[in-house]
Amino acid sequence: MDKRKAARFMARLAADRPDPTTELEFINPFTLLVAVVLSAQATDVSVNKATEPLFKIADTPEKMLALGEERLIGFIRTIGLFRTKAKNVINLSRILIEQHGGQVPREREALEALPGVGRKTANVVLNTAFQEPTIAVDTHIFRVANRTGLAPGKTPREVEDGLNAIVPRRFKHGAHHWLILHGRYICTARKPNCAACVVRAYCEYPDKTDAASPAPARPASRRAPAAARPPSAPRAPRRAKKSADSRRGA
Ligand code: SF4
Repeated sequence: MDKRKAARFMARLAADRPDPTTELEFINPFTLLVAVVLSAQATDVSVNKATEPLFKIADTPEKMLALGEERLIGFIRTIGLFRTKAKNVINLSRILIEQHGGQVPREREALEALPGVGRKTANVVLNTAFQEPTIAVDTHIFRVANRTGLAPGKTPREVEDGLNAIVPRRFKHGAHHWLILHGRYICTARKPNCAACVVRAYCEYPDKTDAASPAPARPASRRAPAAARPPSAPRAPRRAKKSADSRRGA
């Protein structure tokens, strides 16, 4: 896809969803980090269900450490790989206290040095907690980027580099959310809903579906993005929203 068409593609997604953000519930950068770590190979819905009571009593590294691994497991045992994830959350809490003054670092290198945090998780935290124009490539974005011709690549890193090269700067901060939600609700893995797709005119997928499909489930809320808030300012938990989800996590 050429840059001009890519710009139109992104502009159309942006117009359709002006305030994109993650569907993971969080209160502050620490709870965002924990939620993203827990979301690996799990749905946002399952993570939100577990973190709602958890974050009421453990929304800082100090409180998480005090909670301890076994009690943490009690909250997250419905999520896949919960034992490994519990260990990682406790260890990353300890490192945040010992090496970062109890704060989530803003540097990629420091984030990726935390247990359970890879490039994708770091990209989500940098984007959503610190308003960096990073694009985290999950399974949905990988599919959409390849299928549409927006940024074909054999690996998530290749797709990420391709997106960074072709997505205009003004769309970079929202691109992760626009593409992930598009993949989750419209350009789905099994059968893309091309009849309802707002970027159909720019998409280069040769096998578009034509039959009208039922309207896809959409996120219930389009409130202001978390990125618009100061990164260190805690806010009231976003508990009211119920979203349909059918993915692994971002
Ligand atoms: S036209 Fe179809 S394949 Fe292309 S982005 Fe839209 S839903 Fe996906």
